[in-house]
Amino acid sequence: MKRKFQASFNGFHVDSHSGVRHNRSGEIKLQAKELAVFVELVINAGRLVTKENLIQSVWGNSSVSDSSIARCISSIKSQLKEADPGSDALIKMVYGQGYKFIGDLTSSASFLCEKSFSILINASPDFILFKDGDGRWLEANRTALQSFDLTDKIWQGKTDMELADMLPSSYRATFDACAHSDTAAWENKAPSRMVEVVPLADGTNRHFDVMKSPLFHEDGSRNLLIIFGHDVTDLLRMMERQKLSEQVLANSREAVMITDTYNRIVSVNRAFSTVTGYSEEEVIGHNPRMFASGRHDKDFYHAIWHQLNVEGVWRGEIWDKRKNGEIYPKWLDISEVNDRNGTLSNYIAIFSDLTEHKNTGAQIEFLAYHDSLTRLPNRLLLQDRFKQALAASIRENTKIAVLFLDLDKFKQVNDTLGHEAGDQLLMMVAGRLEQAIREVDTVSRIGGDEFVVLLTDLRAVETVTHIAGKILAQLSKPFTIGINQIASSLSIGIAMYPDDGQELDTLLRMADASMYHAKNCGRNTYRFFTAHTE
Ligand code: GH3
Ligand code: MG
Repeated sequence: MKRKFQASFNGFHVDSHSGVRHNRSGEIKLQAKELAVFVELVINAGRLVTKENLIQSVWGNSSVSDSSIARCISSIKSQLKEADPGSDALIKMVYGQGYKFIGDLTSSASFLCEKSFSILINASPDFILFKDGDGRWLEANRTALQSFDLTDKIWQGKTDMELADMLPSSYRATFDACAHSDTAAWENKAPSRMVEVVPLADGTNRHFDVMKSPLFHEDGSRNLLIIFGHDVTDLLRMMERQKLSEQVLANSREAVMITDTYNRIVSVNRAFSTVTGYSEEEVIGHNPRMFASGRHDKDFYHAIWHQLNVEGVWRGEIWDKRKNGEIYPKWLDISEVNDRNGTLSNYIAIFSDLTEHKNTGAQIEFLAYHDSLTRLPNRLLLQDRFKQALAASIRENTKIAVLFLDLDKFKQVNDTLGHEAGDQLLMMVAGRLEQAIREVDTVSRIGGDEFVVLLTDLRAVETVTHIAGKILAQLSKPFTIGINQIASSLSIGIAMYPDDGQELDTLLRMADASMYHAKNCGRNTYRFFTAHTE
């Protein structure tokens, strides 16, 4: 962009655009290149201007001979001399180096020409507006005119109110507000900042971050109001979205923890504090290793970081420690966050407490293998225990006894005291049965008042009779249910592995048959399976 330059010396006036004049002699006829060279010398008054400087600034680096430059200088000198004899001496040749203008400048000014000014302000994406002391629009850039829908209208010299009259009524409020804030800026006597809302034809608004700078004449009267407006509509929208996501984060049921690239905690939400027991202040700036439970080794954490670095995410179950020291399982989801340039900026960890799920899961698993009333193993677990016992039995060459137990006259308890009392009796019987057996043995409930006891690792049949007797003895003591004392007993049928059968089902069938045998023999007794039983 070419600057406009003006200077005066010894009765000469130089203007880079209009040429050189002398007070007495009038206009001095210089060709365009000669004027450009002379201006360059005067601008650099007192300093050496090399031929290279001239080639660059005047000829735009295109090739030019030394003699052309010399001819140019000599033409300027002779013109100066003609206008004012002796003034040619103001241009000195520094041999082999260049030229120097040695005149004393009485005034000089260098400024952007009007065209350059207009190019400059129109290049701005912000709106730029100049108003005079009475609020009349003096100059406005393209963005300003577009923003106020004034591009094809005559706007120069008009006030906000006059412009408002030319535009749809939707602009009225905006111009009112503008005029109002102009007054405030003048009164403030310093740059004032505000947000102005400009309506659009489609009914939406654009928001501008506006800076108004008032300039005053020396006598204090108003001179110029310079207004810059930066469109912040998208920024505000983004901030609103950010606020919204912050709110979502704050109210999320999932715990959220954000760390920086050094893995220092920078932000946590409410759910985080609920799960971990730590407040935000207690964790900010700390490394999340403060939550480590000690349940995982170094390799575990290395594997997490490795996957994070490679994949950008890690998901899985991890055990951490709450503030109260309690160790708990959580489902953790860590992801990397990259900034606009794709550079890693943060890690976001979202997690949920799995304790409840775990409890539910464990509960479901427990119920799959246990009887819900007595909490004794059920038929499935019995099957499992039998399999284990079988393997040991083969290995150790020992026997297994399957005892099929059925309460005697249990219906009567239900009938006389009610089903609930019956349930309680079943639970108490379960407890007594567990007391009667060894730790290696299993008591299970497989139906209504039917229990199966598995005696393993048997080397002598006597052990079976001993335990069967013990069970009957345990049951013979009365049960106290509420205010009632209940006498109870049961009948036991016994089948032996490997003597009576190889499979649990077979053995159960045989023991069941033997139990009926025991019932038939007057109840409250046990019977071994014999060939006659079935
Ligand atoms: P027996 O000496 O011949 O075995 O006579 P019993 O009355 O015990 O008759 P049986 O074993 O055939 O019947 C068991 C009864 O247990 C049948 C049913 O009403 C009752 N029953 C089954 N499951 C439950 C339960 O979960 N709770 C209660 N309270 N009663 C149950
Ligand atoms: Mg019964």
